[in-house]
Amino acid sequence: MTITEILSQPGHSRFSIELLPPLKGQNIDSIYQTMDALSPFNPAFVDVTYHREEYVYREVGPGLLQKRTVRKRPGTVGICAALMNRYEIETVPHIICGGFSVEETENALIDLDFVGVRNVLALRGDAIRSEGRFKAEPEGHAYAIDLVDQIVSLNKGVYLDPDLRNTTATEFCIGVAGYPEKHFEAPNPDNDLRWLKKKVEHGAEYIITQMFFDNTRYFEFVDRCRAEGINIPIIPGIKPLTTSSQLQILPQVFHVDLPEALVESVEAAKTREQVKKAGMDWCTEQAAELLEKGAPTLHFYTMGKAHPTAEIARRVFGS
Ligand code: FAD
Repeated sequence: MTITEILSQPGHSRFSIELLPPLKGQNIDSIYQTMDALSPFNPAFVDVTYHREEYVYREVGPGLLQKRTVRKRPGTVGICAALMNRYEIETVPHIICGGFSVEETENALIDLDFVGVRNVLALRGDAIRSEGRFKAEPEGHAYAIDLVDQIVSLNKGVYLDPDLRNTTATEFCIGVAGYPEKHFEAPNPDNDLRWLKKKVEHGAEYIITQMFFDNTRYFEFVDRCRAEGINIPIIPGIKPLTTSSQLQILPQVFHVDLPEALVESVEAAKTREQVKKAGMDWCTEQAAELLEKGAPTLHFYTMGKAHPTAEIARRVFGS
């Protein structure tokens, strides 16, 4: 089933989750543990992130460094297939432009089609650490919209090789990212919204937002989208803050503001448990208000930690 079909069903589940593949060297058990903890609350679907390669430098002799490419969190496609098989749940692999040629993207989409994945989230990806800004592969896409175009073509049976005959069309339902607080590279919110609208005009069927901690930002974003004629579901992404160091890390990494009331409650906490509770209380209130005011479903960024999301789901949806 596609995400839009799920969302249009009356009484559909009111939350979904994002999982990260485990670090290379680990097995899939941590993913299953997270799913086992969250399955009782009946999530609507599971997103699985994609992590591109990074460069590492290894010392191979005195003063000699060797540059190596590593992918620290491989396994997105395998995890999706395993979860669909084990939990009979729809999965949404994230597909990114960065690090992929268009041919490699096509092959990845074929793999996903073969394992029965019907949904994808089309993203550009961020710059790798050693590069200051995002650089597309020479034969790759520069923006998520180009990836959307490629998936839409495949959905029409149009592959890269023009000589292919009698091709089968894929049936991917395409989601894209949206930024209530603006994508950090966009010169202004209106410009960012213009490109978001283009992604929708090119074939995106739903939007998942970057995390935010102030619901007003989401409601205003939805209003601005609707005013621009973006009428597809806009799924709010939320994350429970769990450590005091996240007061700095989250704004730094995700370019989001943390409301002063949340910051004060975290600063007032004396123990790690109290910090976690402050973050979960905040997120619980966010979740309840978003649902009450008509969000299509909630999308929890679990970041590999099942407990905070499970606890919030218990509070909001009951056990
Ligand atoms: P785009 O839509 O391409 O936008 C990038 C920037 O370019 C924006 O400023 C936009 O306004 C502008 N823009 C867009 N199109 C054009 C155009 N044609 N010409 C000029 N300017 C344009 N990253 C990962 O690496 N792996 C993941 O699994 C992952 N999952 C994510 C899930 C969600 C829900 C979100 C919100 C983000 C995720 N990211 C992930 C991070 C994402 O890749 C980064 O935020 C990235 O910087 C932008 O991706 P995008 O798809 O929004 O890019």
